Formats: sequence, structure tokens, C-alpha cells
Amino acid sequence: MDRDQGPSITIRDQKDDRVDFVLGNVDLSVANSLRRTMLAEIPTLAIDLVEIDVNTSVLADEFLAHRLGLIPLVSEGIQNLKYSRDCTCDNYCPRCSVTYELRAKCDTDSTMTVYARDLLKYNNGSTLGEVVFKNESDKGPIICKLRKHQELLITCIAKKGIAKEHAKWSPCAAVGFEYDPWNKLKHTDYWYEVDANEEWPKSKNCDWEEQPDPEEKFDYKAKPNDFYFDVETVGNLPPNEVVLQGIATLQTKLASIVMELDKDRVEASNVEDGGFTTYGRTDYGHGGETPMIGGATPYGGGDNSFGNSGYGGGAWN
Ligand SMILES: [Zn+2]
Repeated sequence: MDRDQGPSITIRDQKDDRVDFVLGNVDLSVANSLRRTMLAEIPTLAIDLVEIDVNTSVLADEFLAHRLGLIPLVSEGIQNLKYSRDCTCDNYCPRCSVTYELRAKCDTDSTMTVYARDLLKYNNGSTLGEVVFKNESDKGPIICKLRKHQELLITCIAKKGIAKEHAKWSPCAAVGFEYDPWNKLKHTDYWYEVDANEEWPKSKNCDWEEQPDPEEKFDYKAKPNDFYFDVETVGNLPPNEVVLQGIATLQTKLASIVMELDKDRVEASNVEDGGFTTYGRTDYGHGGETPMIGGATPYGGGDNSFGNSGYGGGAWN
């Protein structure tokens, strides 16, 4: 292990919807931060508002709305879309949303199936917001089934968001994460009947690390160095984009912490008696259009319901 070389990445397998790679020469905390960011903090597009004019199907309105929210939508180019809460419009507009219409009526005796392909996107001049299909004949997820005379007339509005707010915005179905496949560090307890080594199947990642000598003394200072990622996406962003966006998001968050700390240092040096300089303003506020940060977001700055509470603006002196 040589951390002086800087981080390394070895891509072991890549497909349209997943990437398997080894991240080396970083600390466990860095690798885990990347995992958590990819799962929960990359902005994507998902249906967030549903206006139901007619619903005579057997499904309740909120049930339908939930199903619509979970449909994966192409999110490449999401950078060009504003968060609705940062937009100047009242509710939604083409700068902060994508609109769809769903019209379906069953006139036959046989059951009619409504698929995600039946969602009609209002033209926004780009592929942003198109329903994700695996191939030409794929119709997408089933939204609902209709019997004779049942009807749906629905308008859907998709907005930009992150999975910290609702899991429907996650670009990842799952992120596999493993380190220390031989369990040399004993961070894991294996439940066993007689012998854990016999009863537990070996991870495929064991091939990437040397088998430890059972006679060797336990090294309590040892640290993990290689982290095995398996990023599986839902299709709204390609896997390489998920990893890159994850790193970019993490960088932005760290940068905002550094900026806030710097600000405090300047303030502290301006006060001769250090008594009340404190860290009071190192909240999560400020910093452009990132989801949990900044102006008019629910967690952020001044003029909203959370504004002057513990998460927000300046009342923490
Ligand atoms: Zn808007």
C-alpha cells in the first residue's frame, strides 16, 4: 500500500447500466462518502406533481401518483434545469420542470395495460425527461391496467431533485461496496455454527487480495486500502456519469465547508476577545444551487420556514 501515489481506479466490468470498479489508495471515509453521495445526492429528474382530471381505474389517485414518480426519466442534461424552489416561477415552468400527459381509455372487453411509453412528453427541445427504455420494443414499467369504460386523464410534472429528499430521485438501484474481503481487520462478525471459514462463501473480491496467514499476529493498526464498488443504475444516468457526478457533488460539499471555515477564521481574527467568535455560522447555508444548500431551499438560507432555525440562516450567534 502506498498512499503517496494518490487514488487509483481499476474498472473490472462495465455495462450499460452498471460499473464494477476498485478504488484504491484512499481512506475508508472517502470511499464511503463517495458511495453515499452516489446513492443519495446526485440530482436527477422524476415526476413530482400529478394533476388527476379523470381516474376511474381501480387504483387510488395517490397510488397512481406514487407509481408515476418511480418511472426512470432520462436525466442527462439535468444541469440545465433549475430546482423549482430556486426558480422565479410560482409553481413550475419549462425552466424547472418537464410536463407529460397521460390519456388512456379502455373501450374493449379485454384488459388494457397502460405503460410508461404512453406518457406523452411536452416538447422541451431535448431528450431530457424521456422515459428510459431498454430497447425499441420495451414499453417501460406498467402504470396500471384498465377494464372496459375505465379511463385516465392525467398531467404529470417532473422536477429536479435528489434522493435525500425522496428515493425516486436516486440514480442508483444499488451500490455494492466491500473492503477487506478476507476480514483481516475483523470489522465484521460472521455468525457461524462451528467454523465461520467453512460456512461462509468466499467473496469474489478475495482473488484481489492476498490470503492472510492465520498464524500472523493481528495488526491493530492496519487500514483498508482497496474498495470494491459495484454501481448499478436505474437507467436515468449512465454509470460513468453517476460516478463522476458523485465525485463532483462531494467536491462541492467539501468546498462549501472549507469556505465556511475560512469565513469563521477571518471573523475570529477580527475579534480581539475570542469569547464569542464561536462556530455559530458554520451551518449548511450558502453556496449556489446545490440542493441542501443556498438561498430559497427548505434547508438553506433566510426566507422560509426553516430559515432561522438550527439549519438555516444567521440566528445562531
Ligand atoms: Zn420555474
